[in-house]
Amino acid sequence: MLRVAVVGSGPSGVYAAQALAQQREVPGVRVDVLDRLPAPYGLVRYGVAPDHEKIKSLQGSLRTVLEDEGIRFLGHVEVGGDRLPAGRLLELYHAVVYCVGAARDRLLGVPGEDLAGVHSATAFVAWYSGHPDAAAEAFDLPGVRSAVVVGAGNVAVDVTRILARGVPELAPTDMPQSALEALGGSGLRTVAMVARRGPSQAKFTTKELRELGTLPSVEALADPAELALDPAYAGGPAAAALPAVARRNLEVLRGWAEQGPGGPPPAPRRITLRFYLRPVEVLGGPDGRVRAVRFERTLPDGQGGVAGTGRYEDLDAQLVLRSVGYRGVPLPGLPFDPASGTVPHAAGRVLRAGRASVGEYVAGWIKRGPTGVIGTNRPCAKETVSSLLQDAGALARRELPGDPLDALRAAGLRPVLWPGWLAIEAAEAEGGRSLGRRTVKIPDWAGLLGAAGPAQT
Ligand code: NAP
Repeated sequence: MLRVAVVGSGPSGVYAAQALAQQREVPGVRVDVLDRLPAPYGLVRYGVAPDHEKIKSLQGSLRTVLEDEGIRFLGHVEVGGDRLPAGRLLELYHAVVYCVGAARDRLLGVPGEDLAGVHSATAFVAWYSGHPDAAAEAFDLPGVRSAVVVGAGNVAVDVTRILARGVPELAPTDMPQSALEALGGSGLRTVAMVARRGPSQAKFTTKELRELGTLPSVEALADPAELALDPAYAGGPAAAALPAVARRNLEVLRGWAEQGPGGPPPAPRRITLRFYLRPVEVLGGPDGRVRAVRFERTLPDGQGGVAGTGRYEDLDAQLVLRSVGYRGVPLPGLPFDPASGTVPHAAGRVLRAGRASVGEYVAGWIKRGPTGVIGTNRPCAKETVSSLLQDAGALARRELPGDPLDALRAAGLRPVLWPGWLAIEAAEAEGGRSLGRRTVKIPDWAGLLGAAGPAQT
């Protein structure tokens, strides 16, 4: 028998577990999927926007995997802490696959970004997604009339859309009641999403961009003069050389920019997409809160980059979300490359001092960095599992101390097993019913662990 721990129950962890359960090369593989949280699914539960029901429904297929008889979910188990150091985990299993994602936000590195009212998009997403670590985040929304979102990736689009949506559209989601009420009580009128480069270099995908133009009671605008700074905006060879997604993005933006007189009447809320503006300072008011963001106008340098012009523009904002990508966090006991924010590896085998470490593997964002869509994790996890299976003969020779669950409990951990998670799900459904909504997430640790119940068998 080969006993494998997968650390992390987001898409990469579940796909790794699935690849292990479905393979026929090595018989008798048992997989424990460990997660720090009592709830499974990682960023599918705590990152995919609550109004994106279709992507959220992916939880159904991840669930089927976790219910496979060769797989056991062990939530509320933190790896890398005092109770369960990485080295100890490797004593309990023949192999460990780390699928711990890239949990942190990146900073802008400009003065003033620590002012009240400036947050990472990661924190904002975690808060409206009911992540228990974000329960205490304070988003002071009632005084917010204008928000600035820095960055032009799909996370920037997500937070822009959630800010601009009204309560009638958010109420059917599983967003915690506290976040729904806070968003509903904001006085927000405008959200500016600001990119330091041009529309051709934006990282968002067209479906997500287009959706911003379809929100009820929201107008989406782009400035034709600003778009025209992009050499590809006018079409021609520069446009032909672009990837298809960038060409389609330009078409959508052109449509928004060309809505002149005779277009739809002004809506209560407005989203503006701004380009060629790089943040240089966050400006505070006398109350110590953010009042504006200062940007420097940039221009394309002809090689996909930009150069500063020494001209500046201030955009008013009482809320600033920096959405400039995620980064990996070192897990104590595992090697880490701070430059890339990933664990050094060869085809998924963790490298220590350049050599493959016996029994240690990585998959997902901690392996390749925070890129790609959810489906990208499937081939990534398969590659790692294929390396593991090649090593299986040697790995399985080691005697293990018995069921790891006993050792985890003996170390003082209180794992939440699958029935505990099902009890959380049932409590969230019941909580939603009592509010006249569908399922509503429990957003704090005490609530989650209380709902999971004491007996985890
Ligand atoms: P991302 O796609 O890497 O976008 C980061 C954005 O931040 C880029 O526009 C980048 O501009 C900008 N940026 C970086 N440093 C900056 C700085 N110092 N000042 C100003 N702008 C800066 O990251 P993400 O949006 O966090 O998304 C992460 C991954 O999750 C992506 O693969 C994304 O597609 C995926 N995701 C997908 C969905 C979906 O499919 N619906 C939803 C959410 C996330 P430059 O290009 O100029 O560096």
